[in-house]
Amino acid sequence: MPTSSSDLRPKSLTVPADSRTYDIDFVSLAGVPAHLRTLGLHGPNVVIVTDENVAAHYRSPLVHAFEADGWKPHVVVVPPGESSKSLERLEMLYDTLLPIGLERSTPVCTLGGGVVGDVGGFAAATLLRGVPLVHLPTSLLAQVDSSIGGKTGINHAVGKNLIGSFYQPHGVLVDPETLLTLPAREWINGMAETIKHGLIADAALVAYLDEHLVDILGHHSLEATVPAIRQAMAVKARVVGHDEREAGKRAYLNFGHTFAHAIEQVAGYGTVAHGEAVAIGMRAALYLSWQRHGDALDRERLDTLLTRLPLPDVSHLDFDALWTAMRHDKKTKDGRIRFVLLKALADPYVADDCAKPAVERAWDFVQQSPA
Ligand code: NAD
Ligand code: ZN
Repeated sequence: MPTSSSDLRPKSLTVPADSRTYDIDFVSLAGVPAHLRTLGLHGPNVVIVTDENVAAHYRSPLVHAFEADGWKPHVVVVPPGESSKSLERLEMLYDTLLPIGLERSTPVCTLGGGVVGDVGGFAAATLLRGVPLVHLPTSLLAQVDSSIGGKTGINHAVGKNLIGSFYQPHGVLVDPETLLTLPAREWINGMAETIKHGLIADAALVAYLDEHLVDILGHHSLEATVPAIRQAMAVKARVVGHDEREAGKRAYLNFGHTFAHAIEQVAGYGTVAHGEAVAIGMRAALYLSWQRHGDALDRERLDTLLTRLPLPDVSHLDFDALWTAMRHDKKTKDGRIRFVLLKALADPYVADDCAKPAVERAWDFVQQSPA
């Protein structure tokens, strides 16, 4: 993959969806208003949903860009974090946006990470039975993962992401320079999902990360990061394009997530970040895969890539507690825990026949050789 600085604005990608396709474009925030017009979207009103952290950096530049282009921007700022994916916040969005004279053609732009994309996307899906949605993802995770695929929604006390809809955006506009203000731990979260996309579908991306992870995580070099983002987006676009509603291949995106959800729950939500749990879960899933497929999988090399992420020590977590959590996961069917495994690099499948001793050996491995 090329790494020259001209690639900070690489070529767009097309995501196939049910009724139409949409593009992922690399556009600076200043170029967003003009780009919306090329998507057939018009003002004067435009809504920007963002969170407090992101607003502190990018609210003014984006508002000024819209105003200079003749639009009338309305900004709604929610508190940062998962708690904003709530009915209460959604109601606040409706209460703020309906009185501004919102029309069926008024675009809603989500400016921020996955939280803002999910709650703002659900508001766009439901306001007036659907207004045009444009994602402006500013976290690495949102760029490589949550802004692509059309899932929107909020949480409920019973569980995460239980209320929502599939609602495809008109476009996804990525300005990689917004990553320069992203906190270091969020780089790790996003990089875990980036590595995941490589492991399930793109050996070249894995080779690229082998070489460039230090520049990406150590120096937050955009030159090194942007080619990886683009490749990881392409994987997500391909997978959701084949399987928009999650019947088959989309399940592969859950690589590492069976263990991850259990780790997050048993450690106590918020203790281990999602991406950290996914990275640890992928180490376990790689070990499980290697127990089955042996030398077809270069486990040591792939495990080394994952252990280069700074990961928390989870050796205190009890295997039986994790096993119980996995058995109660919503993806578990008839008590059979489903793991995404790899036959080889970039060759995933879903297994529901992993015996407890094999899973425990995988956990022992992760515990005994911490990152
Ligand atoms: P997030 O939206 O909470 O963002 C992480 C943190 O980074 C927040 O504090 C945010 O304010 C801050 N931030 C974001 N961009 C910044 C920037 N450029 N500069 C400074 N700070 C910035 O979390 P996330 O990791 O982006 O997304 C996680 C959410 O995405 C979860 O709710 C998850 O369920 C959801 N998700 C959705 C999908 C989907 O397909 N819709 C897929 C994966 C995850
Ligand atoms: Zn995830």
